[in-house]
Amino acid sequence: MASRGIDTVGVSIVAGTLLVVEDDREIRDLLRRYLERAGFTTHTTGSGAEAIRLVSTGGIDLVILDLGLPDIDGIEVLDTARRTNGVPVVVLTARSGVDDRILGLEHGADDYVTKPFSPTEVVLRAQAVLHRVRGSAGEPDTWSFGDGRLRIDEPRHEASLAGQRLELTPTEWGLLSAMAAAPGRVFSRYELVNRVRGYEFAGYERTIDSHVKNLRRKLGPDGGEIVETVLGVGYRLGLNRDR
Ligand code: CA
Repeated sequence: MASRGIDTVGVSIVAGTLLVVEDDREIRDLLRRYLERAGFTTHTTGSGAEAIRLVSTGGIDLVILDLGLPDIDGIEVLDTARRTNGVPVVVLTARSGVDDRILGLEHGADDYVTKPFSPTEVVLRAQAVLHRVRGSAGEPDTWSFGDGRLRIDEPRHEASLAGQRLELTPTEWGLLSAMAAAPGRVFSRYELVNRVRGYEFAGYERTIDSHVKNLRRKLGPDGGEIVETVLGVGYRLGLNRDR
């Protein structure tokens, strides 16, 4: 599938170095791909012992951790990251794993994502946790565009136009925030599907147009100017990011 090649422009608002600890290779590779695409430097391992070594060495900003590991209990990795090294952790849990979730939170996990998940959700959680732990020392939470016309609050998943909060569906929010991460850059429908749905599903591309149409309607009379059509290619945000 032609999913590579268009994602090379840095589109992340928050970046950092992440460690993905997951023994399922498919999930591990999928997460790595999405995290790198979002601008993160990403290390991966399927071993808890290796994870402990990497976290103890330093240089990891956040760990994405599957608790069910083959060699050691994932909780040990969580403790090493959180308690010993103060590195934030997003835990991956199985759908039925309510106990895992509670256990993870008891051991200081910063957030959790339930399997099966969309990789995009994991990216967003990681970004939100990093925003939170970096606080005011990090990047601002709210970005504004077009001299304050459009404001986007990434961690809260909120957008407002001329001071009015926009009531967006998760898909509309995903489209807007994906485009806002790189104003002026053209996103193909295919790429937008990937970013919004978190997986590759070519049949979904057509419906992007109707989501864009709804998004534009919510953006008012200038909707077509804020989300521009680039004929034969896709869409882009037509506003500049304010400094
Ligand atoms: Ca596992």
